[in-house]
Amino acid sequence: MKKITVAKGDGIGPEIMDATLKIILAAGAQIEVEEIMVGEQIYLSGNTSGIAKESWESIRNNKVFLKAPITTPQGGGYKSLNVTTRKMLGLYANVRPCTSLHPFVKTKHPDLDLVIIRENEEDLYAGIEHQQTDEVVQCLKLISRPGCEKIIRYAFEYAKSYGRKKVTCFSKDNIMKQTDGLFHSVFDEIGEQYPDIEKEHWIVDIGAAKMADTPEVFDVIVTLNLYGDVLSDVAAQIAGSVGLAGSANIGEECAMFEAIHGSAPRRAGQNMANPSGLLQGAILMLNHIGQADVAERVHNAWLKTLEDGVHTYDIYKEGVSTEKVGTSEFADAVIARLGQEPTILKPIKYSLKQPLVLPKYQRKAAAKKVLNGVDMFVHWPGTDADELGEKMKELATTNLSLNMISNRGIKVWPQGFKETFCTDHWRCRFLTKGEAEPSKEEILQLLNLALQNQLDVIKTENLYLFDGKAAYSLGQGQ
Ligand code: NAD
Repeated sequence: MKKITVAKGDGIGPEIMDATLKIILAAGAQIEVEEIMVGEQIYLSGNTSGIAKESWESIRNNKVFLKAPITTPQGGGYKSLNVTTRKMLGLYANVRPCTSLHPFVKTKHPDLDLVIIRENEEDLYAGIEHQQTDEVVQCLKLISRPGCEKIIRYAFEYAKSYGRKKVTCFSKDNIMKQTDGLFHSVFDEIGEQYPDIEKEHWIVDIGAAKMADTPEVFDVIVTLNLYGDVLSDVAAQIAGSVGLAGSANIGEECAMFEAIHGSAPRRAGQNMANPSGLLQGAILMLNHIGQADVAERVHNAWLKTLEDGVHTYDIYKEGVSTEKVGTSEFADAVIARLGQEPTILKPIKYSLKQPLVLPKYQRKAAAKKVLNGVDMFVHWPGTDADELGEKMKELATTNLSLNMISNRGIKVWPQGFKETFCTDHWRCRFLTKGEAEPSKEEILQLLNLALQNQLDVIKTENLYLFDGKAAYSLGQGQ
């Protein structure tokens, strides 16, 4: 018997959770439910994270959390419970299987059957944002080697365990050579350890276009947080409906399972909502807790129900559907078919008996890190880059001198184009003049000189060589 934490959420949440629990218990799930409250009421009681301290304890003790959608109240100050839960519990892998149910659910892609594995903790979702000048705000895109290794290894292990043949990496490393470049190179590195699995890489733009057009050529897709967020909604939608998809958020210790849709407040309390998305989340959970036989029974009974044309309003279609049912009648229809398999759709076989156990991340030996210069970011309201160049040239130390100025990444000094549009946010790059490594004191000297010259420095970034290789981007046009 496995104890799990359950939150019934808001809007349609309680109805679809009741239906889901009823189905999996009828199928023989060996679970004991511990219910917690999260969401709207908790937010409105003044708790900006939407979850109370005791509820965290329940999730951390049970380590498995089945969550219905919640409503985030309008207005500022409320933190997304999903993002908080994922990060606080280190749920680094977001797994979303999407499969067409043609001809029973309308789709342009009858052969779509793919799984998107999205990195869940870093990238632009680290939420580190600043306004730096009147005209410019920034969001830091943080990508780490452990983050890349964990998600990419997870994708290969998932493919191996679930009999998937190919893993495709999506990134934009032609533009973001450091961040997306790291993701791609870790994919190549780890991929070598899985000789039986086919591997490929697509630039995310054309890859997304291909996925929307010909999704059947993909099997498992592994990608960074932002791309994965967008692509997994696209994949669910083109498979038939976002209302049919579930997702797993997996960490080393804990895991959270949910539907991908929201709380649909307009449908709440009317016994109308489709519980399938949350049921898919529960199927992922059953596999995770080693109850693959129950997951298989539920999944096949669900497929048979859809195949028999028993449909909720959102997928009901004259000519295909035979019966329009509410949430609880749909649950009863699935329960009545437990033990049956679909005859037209492909029956599901789950053989995995244990959750995936991945090796712990091993930190590599540190590289030789040599300071090579500094980027000094300046808030300057002028528009003539040559004028700023003259001012910045005056700031120099024994080993550091001005090498380049860029604006929004584009080189504007020396020899910029007058056509380049400039904002009030300038990056002034100082590089070492010769072979000698500048000291950190020299950076402080530069900052002091800037201060004396009434230059408004908003931040600096040190420039390093790692094992002799420049580990920073050049200015565009440099
Ligand atoms: P939504 O997913 O709730 O609804 C979008 C559309 O899909 C609506 O027309 C809705 O009626 C329909 N729909 C959704 N689930 C359905 C189901 N199971 N059966 C039938 N129809 C269904 O998205 P929204 O309207 O943008 O957001 C509503 C609320 O949900 C917001 O407060 C939002 O913050 C929250 N939300 C929560 C989560 C979560 O908890 N994981 C995710 C997304 C949105």
